Amino acid sequence: MAKRALITGITGQDGSYLAELLLKKGYEVHGMVRRSSEEKFERIAHLQGKVTLHQGDLLDQFSLAALLSLTQPDEVYNLAAQSFVPTSWNQPVLTGEFTALGVTKMLEAIRHTRPQVRFYQASSSEMFGKVLEVPQTEDTPFYPRSPYGVAKAYGHHITVNYRESFKLFAVSGILFNHESPRRGLEFVTRKVTYNVARIKHGLQDKLPMGNLDAKRDWGFAGDYVDAMWRMLQQDEPDDYVVSTNETHTVKELVEIAFARVGLDYTKYVFTDPAFVRPAEVDLLIGDAAKAKKKLGWEPTVRFKELVEMMVDADMERVKAGQR
Ligand code: NDP
Repeated sequence: MAKRALITGITGQDGSYLAELLLKKGYEVHGMVRRSSEEKFERIAHLQGKVTLHQGDLLDQFSLAALLSLTQPDEVYNLAAQSFVPTSWNQPVLTGEFTALGVTKMLEAIRHTRPQVRFYQASSSEMFGKVLEVPQTEDTPFYPRSPYGVAKAYGHHITVNYRESFKLFAVSGILFNHESPRRGLEFVTRKVTYNVARIKHGLQDKLPMGNLDAKRDWGFAGDYVDAMWRMLQQDEPDDYVVSTNETHTVKELVEIAFARVGLDYTKYVFTDPAFVRPAEVDLLIGDAAKAKKKLGWEPTVRFKELVEMMVDADMERVKAGQR
């Protein structure tokens, strides 16, 4: 019989890639979506008829339990979250409710409704925050620098706690930044690649940016969802760092993106304090040795290729008058 998976956050970047991967592997895929006045399912439009969508919300405990009873999943991937760091300073309470307590709500629903489920929690390198160790591993202490990072640290610890307290098969994937042409427009990579395409097409002539010196470990979302799946196929639940083991500055991102369309970034980019974080995460670089050894996982797309893939996709989109 086909395995069944339930994905929260299926309408997001990772949810769409994960749904594709699981369908390819023969899974029956269910996705939880929250009600909104207008459906925004662009990222999974091509999967219509192949995945089953159900209304639910991480804030509504009963909707989670009902969904587990209805769909009877073998695996639950908890990708839903308020996932944008800058918004977490404007809406810290809501971020805590979705991104932190939402995890407990799902774990409680699993514990009482379907304890045999294998559970994946989408943890984040933003939990490391202030640099205490380079590169960062599963054992590096957390020092989050935003309400988002703090909420994710809670989600990580409660996942470990439910594994140890109630013997749930619960894993936390500590994923470093991962991007794709499906990344939300507000995230720095996509902001750059989309605006480069607009500048190249003569639709604007400036690009305001925040801290160009921040360093991140950026990979491709398509690779990273494969690591999520591998974590749930192990004999024992455990936590894993997933990263490329390379770090690059935002300035390098900007340089490569503009160069892809034959432009010199210094003519267009300026620093706008409005985009500088109240507390910065200066340097993220992950060590994914454990994922490589135990999961047999390695990234297939490197930084330059990733940025160029995103610029090319945005050039096509802008040409077609799309976002
Ligand atoms: P996105 O922002 O693209 O997607 C977030 C998803 O969560 C959307 O489907 C959104 O639904 C859903 N969502 C938000 N709040 C709720 C709620 N209350 N109830 C139900 N659904 C909700 O994020 P990504 O796909 O990039 O990331 C997936 C997960 O991985 C997130 O938890 C993120 O924090 C985490 N992560 C991401 C990294 C990255 O670099 N991409 C790095 C490390 C961790 P809607 O469409 O309705 O808004």
